Amino acid sequence: MAGFTVAIVGRPNVGKSTLFNRLIAERQAIVADVSGVTRDRIYGTSDWNGKTFNVIDTGGFVPDAHDEITRAIARQVEIAMQEADGILFVCDVTTGITDIDDVIADILRKSKTPVWLVVNKVDHYERQLDAQEFYRLGFDPIFPVSAISGSGTGELLDAVVQHIPSESTDTTDETEETLPRIAIVGQPNVGKSSLLNALIGEGRNVVSDMPGTTRDAIHTHYNLFQKSCILIDTAGLRRKDANKDQLEFYATIRAIKAVDEADVCMLLLDATRPMTAQDVNIFSLIIRKGKGVVLLVNKWDAIEKDTHTARRFEEEIRSRIAPFTDVPIIFISAIEKTRIYKALETALDVYARRRQKIPTSQLNETLLPVIEQTPPPSVRGHLIRIKYITQLPASYPTFLFFTNYPDEIRQPYKQFLENQLRKHFSFTGVPLRIYFRKK
Ligand code: GDP
Ligand code: GDP
Repeated sequence: MAGFTVAIVGRPNVGKSTLFNRLIAERQAIVADVSGVTRDRIYGTSDWNGKTFNVIDTGGFVPDAHDEITRAIARQVEIAMQEADGILFVCDVTTGITDIDDVIADILRKSKTPVWLVVNKVDHYERQLDAQEFYRLGFDPIFPVSAISGSGTGELLDAVVQHIPSESTDTTDETEETLPRIAIVGQPNVGKSSLLNALIGEGRNVVSDMPGTTRDAIHTHYNLFQKSCILIDTAGLRRKDANKDQLEFYATIRAIKAVDEADVCMLLLDATRPMTAQDVNIFSLIIRKGKGVVLLVNKWDAIEKDTHTARRFEEEIRSRIAPFTDVPIIFISAIEKTRIYKALETALDVYARRRQKIPTSQLNETLLPVIEQTPPPSVRGHLIRIKYITQLPASYPTFLFFTNYPDEIRQPYKQFLENQLRKHFSFTGVPLRIYFRKK
């Protein structure tokens, strides 16, 4: 199912990241704190009236050339216009309209993508009046908000979610729908195009001169030893004038879309450089969206190795992605075509594991004795009992534990139950959801 992605654009200091945090606030609170996520949050998910969308903060991709800032922001806005499904254009009421605002507005007025003009820092009534000045930029309506207090953001969210199509309008044909959808994701230059080329041959030109010439990630039917799948490719933007931040922004927004569409993601890491917070961010995005994952350490040909190198890499990676470490890690070389088919086969295995339904009887026979041995710790004198377990018919493994005190079961015990599920059944590479219900 394709997602809906909104990019927040604007010049520095208007309050983009404050607005971003406001929009994703509630969601983030219930998400497990994966290391690296909180440190530099650049994208997240927002929920409003039952509709979910991705939010991406372009301010996280700060141009490094200070004197080039207008040009760099203009490029970001252009990429956002081509790649996002909606744009929040943020201005600052306390400074009024600036030159950069005018430049951005000129670009965005030509946008076919919906644009919502957000006038931020409207903290009190007088500023409501000042905000009227922003109608001059040519957008109607405008949304006066205070990102700090949250006032006005409800109206803004109402307007945004109106543009999100209902899930039922899915027109993908049935054969495509039932094939495993495997995405190749990762930061710029990890070797995504090289891997795709190694898998499907050089027949296809993945190097596109113009960014955004294709709006969606490219889909390729692929057959591997009688098994078919759809490869979703996120490679793109190859422009000499694109700087590092623009490439990262572009790669990120592509990755978000690909993850939404995929069942399983092959996340590429670069063996020649240390794992970064960005790598961890993509990983946690995949997990939050409940998609399967295989980690591929690419460029394995390019580093000095002894007998311990692979193990050290594995340990380092697992420590960065904790607590969800039950993930396949494969060392590949896209250039030398080493283990690339194994990588894809592993992704297909993860796909199968993600779709498995464990019979209720088997779940209860296996887990209830374990739970009896190690019951949840009692809280405020309440003896907590888990009586019954069942797997829900969800798109990925979701387990319901019936208990007398669903609200009293704490995270460590939940983690214990997840570990038991992983120990007794086979879920490597697959995120699990666990819920407790009153019985
Ligand atoms: P960004 O560079 O566009 O991401 O801007 P930030 O979110 O970092 O905000 C820049 C400054 O504006 C910070 O000092 C924020 O506290 C402040 N700010 C953000 N939103 C508001 C708001 O609604 N009202 C006021 N008064 N200040 C705000
Ligand atoms: P993308 O931006 O993720 O699509 O990365 P590319 O596929 O364009 O690769 C970026 C650079 O890494 C190119 O110079 C590739 O030749 C190089 N590269 C990709 N895979 C490998 C590999 O397995 N080994 C080595 N040594 N270099 C690689």
